[in-house]
Amino acid sequence: MNIILLGPPGAGKGTQAKKLEDKYGLKQLSTGDMLRAEIAAGTDLGVQAKQIIDRGDLVSDDIIIGMISSRTEQDDCQNGVIFDGFPRTVAQAEALENMLSDKGQRIDAVIELKVDEEALVGRLENRIAEMKAAGQEVRSDDNAETLRHRLATFREQTAPIIPFFADKDMLRTVDGMQAIDAVEAAIDAVIDEAKTAS
Ligand code: ADP
Repeated sequence: MNIILLGPPGAGKGTQAKKLEDKYGLKQLSTGDMLRAEIAAGTDLGVQAKQIIDRGDLVSDDIIIGMISSRTEQDDCQNGVIFDGFPRTVAQAEALENMLSDKGQRIDAVIELKVDEEALVGRLENRIAEMKAAGQEVRSDDNAETLRHRLATFREQTAPIIPFFADKDMLRTVDGMQAIDAVEAAIDAVIDEAKTAS
């Protein structure tokens, strides 16, 4: 089973993806985490990506598609994947569909976490405070100014994939403003529906 979690920065995709990994034996692939690993390892890709990420822009489709395509070949992805933060453009969505259909697979559910933008700034501030309190390093793109740019990037480049999947009747929307457990229950219901349909 392959699932896409879709939503603006701070919508709760990572939190929910982790829960799905445990429950359904799927592998969470976060392109953001993969890029941050490249940065930490100091690879050429990481050096290029850091500047783009720190501005709140998107890394090029070619790089992202290449990264996902080789990652999904690995053994731990064979049971299915939760895509978190990918696709972020219509070109990435099309590439993913082609990639999966070449392997005789498909996207089983696209789950949009809907949240209001006002709340996202507050959530980000909490995330920063929690990380600092826990002595963890705060992401260099986690600040109010970059977040505003990341939200604008989402609206301009990522939001068009919502009608792209809705037109194919693949999109299910969950209210991401609810408590974490309630969001989880709503996502479970969507996945149960997708399982029955397959
Ligand atoms: P967020 O909390 O904003 O959802 P992510 O960890 O998913 O953060 O992504 C952080 C940054 O990494 C993005 O702002 C973008 O610059 C880059 N990035 C992550 N995934 C993609 C992608 N699929 N396509 C292009 N850029 C990406």
